[in-house]
Amino acid sequence: MTHTVIQENLHAILATIRQGCQLVAVSKYHPASEIQECYDQGQRIFGESHEQELRLKHDILPKDIAWHFIGHLQTNKVKYIAPYITMIETVDSLKLLKEIEKQGARHDRVINVLLELHIAQEETKYGLSKDACRALLEGGEWRTMSHVRICGIMTMATNTEDEELIRREFTEAASFFDEVKEKYFKDDDNFRERSWGMSGDYLIAQECRSTLVRVGTAIFGERDYSSHTSQ
Ligand SMILES: *Cc1c(COP(=O)(O)O)cnc(C)c1O
Repeated sequence: MTHTVIQENLHAILATIRQGCQLVAVSKYHPASEIQECYDQGQRIFGESHEQELRLKHDILPKDIAWHFIGHLQTNKVKYIAPYITMIETVDSLKLLKEIEKQGARHDRVINVLLELHIAQEETKYGLSKDACRALLEGGEWRTMSHVRICGIMTMATNTEDEELIRREFTEAASFFDEVKEKYFKDDDNFRERSWGMSGDYLIAQECRSTLVRVGTAIFGERDYSSHTSQ
């Protein structure tokens, strides 16, 4: 895809982003040069889902990019992204949260995270069930973590054409956000992010109060999974 098309795509998406919502441009599997194209148009938040690929891109791209980690994160990889990651959107266990706290402390940083909620019907997707998320918060260990900042909830809808199902799932995520906000973060202004919506469903997501939409294909085109860490 030519850069001109990417720029046009980016501006077309940005034109549909509501006030109070931010675009995470999901650049996984796309070369750094295409990220730079979006950067030159003013885009600053990019999403990646593989630690190594992110590291290579972080090394060569402008340092004021806000990188969001949106893939499944193994605990042994946290140390590599801890020095620079802006937000880890996919926290799905207390174990991972504790490792982020540990690495945050090591680098003297407070790392923003989202709790990844599993709501979609697919069995294979990662994330916490609502009950597991409640248990994690009720446990209270997170309150002692001064290098982790829990900023909200992330989720993915079922991969389906059924818009009503997608809408039901995002609505469920939004009311779960309200429940958690009320119970644990009532006076914490940092807890405000609702990350849902991808290329196929980000418009529905915004109707369901999303504050972060993670859009890849609609900006960069189809991903080529054969070139894993392309430049
Ligand atoms: C890849 C990915 C996206 C972007 O998906 P598109 O359909 O390409 O917009 C969004 N969120 C997560 C968690 C992803 O892994």
